[in-house]
Amino acid sequence: MRSLRTINGRKCLLVCLLLSVFHSNCHSWGFFGHRKINYYSVFLLPPELIRFYKPQVDFISEHAVDPDKRRYIVAEEGPRHFMDMDKYGHYPYDSIPHKWEDAVKRYTEDSLKKYGIVPWWVDVMQKRLTAAYKEKDSRKILKLSAELGHYIADAHVPLHANSNHNGQYTNQKGIHAFWESRIPELLADNEWDFFIGKAEYIPDPSAYIWKRIEESGAAADTVLRIERELSRQFPAAQKFSFEERNGLIIRQYSAAFSKAYDEKLKGMILRRMRLSIYSIASFWYTAWVNAGQPALSPLDANIFNAQELTEFEKLNQAWRNGKIQGREED
Ligand SMILES: [Zn+2]
Repeated sequence: MRSLRTINGRKCLLVCLLLSVFHSNCHSWGFFGHRKINYYSVFLLPPELIRFYKPQVDFISEHAVDPDKRRYIVAEEGPRHFMDMDKYGHYPYDSIPHKWEDAVKRYTEDSLKKYGIVPWWVDVMQKRLTAAYKEKDSRKILKLSAELGHYIADAHVPLHANSNHNGQYTNQKGIHAFWESRIPELLADNEWDFFIGKAEYIPDPSAYIWKRIEESGAAADTVLRIERELSRQFPAAQKFSFEERNGLIIRQYSAAFSKAYDEKLKGMILRRMRLSIYSIASFWYTAWVNAGQPALSPLDANIFNAQELTEFEKLNQAWRNGKIQGREED
């Protein structure tokens, strides 16, 4: 307790500063979660595809986070990661047309982009991936698979489907990273299992992803309410803890609070993570089937040319040094 008080008193400013640095680097399933989700997705694929993807599983995992890095360069990137479903009424959100042109007619493009476009963007990426399969362009297939995985996973996160996305309207700031980064980092490797059947063909990918974002929208209230209820039972000193991370002392939700929250959510986070994995593998598989099931041969490890490697490095630089374009915590 004494050391905690010392940290509290003398280093508050430093800690708060570090906390904000930590938070601004946490987006959507966190980097940890996105990498895990893409990684496990590979193992749900049928043999014809697993032969192609498995030698590249490191690439697929690592580049799961490229879309979040791109948010530091491109302003249009932000809305592709979320959709504020509460702006369109209540579940099942009948007022929002699923067809882009119809939605534009009803709400205007500006307004749609303001509140997020993730289900439409998943559609765009799925079409691009299908085209890449038809062209048998292996590098494109890998890049698009990794990035499509990111957007699909984002659509499964309740706080990516609500305008109170970081609890900013209800004095719950930090809940975004808490749900999708802190808890998976605490529990995924030791307590959760990711043995999840097989990828399946999705007859209507657009309808499928709309279902997922609607579920996410419906779950957002629970995500926020349970945190509020639990906070009343935990004194602040037990709700947060100070831990070292990469040589820095940071304040974060304590393990006890995190586990209690996860229990009260009755496995919701694991369920959404597992469903993300199943969905991603099924989207990849569906794109391949729709492209006519082309035969793909496995690629060598170093498949990307100098220009592509420079592009990847540009993303890294922007993410490390830059300021996010658009709103944070998505
Ligand atoms: Zn994202």
